[in-house]
Amino acid sequence: MTDSRLIQHLAAQNKNYSDSYSSKGIPGQAGKGLLLLTCMDSRIVPHEIFGLEIGDMKVIRNAGGQLNPEVEKDIVLASHILNCHTIVILPHTKCAMASMALEDIQRKLTDLSNLDFSNFNPRMIHDAETKLESDVLSLQNNPMLKEGVQVFGAVYDVDTGEVNWIE
Ligand SMILES: [Zn+2]
Repeated sequence: MTDSRLIQHLAAQNKNYSDSYSSKGIPGQAGKGLLLLTCMDSRIVPHEIFGLEIGDMKVIRNAGGQLNPEVEKDIVLASHILNCHTIVILPHTKCAMASMALEDIQRKLTDLSNLDFSNFNPRMIHDAETKLESDVLSLQNNPMLKEGVQVFGAVYDVDTGEVNWIE
């Protein structure tokens, strides 16, 4: 399937979707006051995992579901402006970002592209458990976050669909 065929397919599917769309008027603020930070991994379907509906939850995604200064700013914003009172950071099992060393990914990218990736530094995760704990702690201690906002961490299991919450 070429890219353009894929887009044609997507457009047709979207036509079906919009034909039966009935969510007009749902507010932009997340109905459940929930914001999820998770990985871009295609096995994670955020609203389905938690049985949520359109309008219930904000979702921020990146490689690894990692907190970084940009994401942190978005979350601060969402806590005040969008009334997100509960933040969940949700990385997952079998994440490529946590299973490869920086040098390995640089070598792989160079091999695939023939470009020089020696100065390319994606945010690889060295220790998934420690990284999640420190992300949760860092966000909890962000003084700009709206008072009373709660931050939780959990790991999504891509083999079972389970969300395992950390203490
Ligand atoms: Zn991932």
